[in-house]
Amino acid sequence: MTTLRATIVGAGGLGGPIALALGAAGFELAIVDHDRVELSNLHRQIQFTALDIDQLKAARLADAVVARGGSARGIAARWTPDTADELARDADVVVDGSDDPATKFAVSDWAVANGRYYVIAAALRYGGNVMAGAPGVGCYRCLFEDPVDVPSCADAGVLGPVVGAIGGVAAAVALALTRGDRALAGALLVFDDLRKATEPRIVRFASRRDCPACARAPISPTATPVRVAEVQ
Ligand SMILES: [Zn+2]
Repeated sequence: MTTLRATIVGAGGLGGPIALALGAAGFELAIVDHDRVELSNLHRQIQFTALDIDQLKAARLADAVVARGGSARGIAARWTPDTADELARDADVVVDGSDDPATKFAVSDWAVANGRYYVIAAALRYGGNVMAGAPGVGCYRCLFEDPVDVPSCADAGVLGPVVGAIGGVAAAVALALTRGDRALAGALLVFDDLRKATEPRIVRFASRRDCPACARAPISPTATPVRVAEVQ
């Protein structure tokens, strides 16, 4: 069986469960994060311990994956349009768990231009969302157009267990896509409040006719005006 490769962008609260789950599932991982572990991270980044403080997050998370029998390397870098090729050249899927809107758009744009699967996860306070990106369907930029200033986890806070739940969903979506299951391809799963045991809202949307990212896609999504519809 061919080994699947995933590049994980962000080694924090979301990147931790994403990497541990995909590492345990047999993926070969490249984990990208430029940051170091801080004491204030530990309540929501449970892959780290106090012994990891001041260490590079990417390296320590890769160590945690390897300690559980997985295969991972940590890369101390930022994902940008300039570094993306090198960070994900051989990745079957790129999974974003960063805390930065510009990075999420850069992940989506690169994956669309290179015809790769991608998953973009975000968590804030009690909820979050996960986008399942795939060739041939509307992209993250079709839906959100441009980065906007949203409060970050560090500023607005996030309940520790919420990132574990959203990260777990992101890993499951990455597994499904790379197995060829396109049931959720192009959909955004929205969890409004994980304290309430509700199903996610599944938001499906058409590609945007003037999306600059999709204009570079090797497999062009059908160009129809954007239409956001909730089917569930
Ligand atoms: Zn697009």
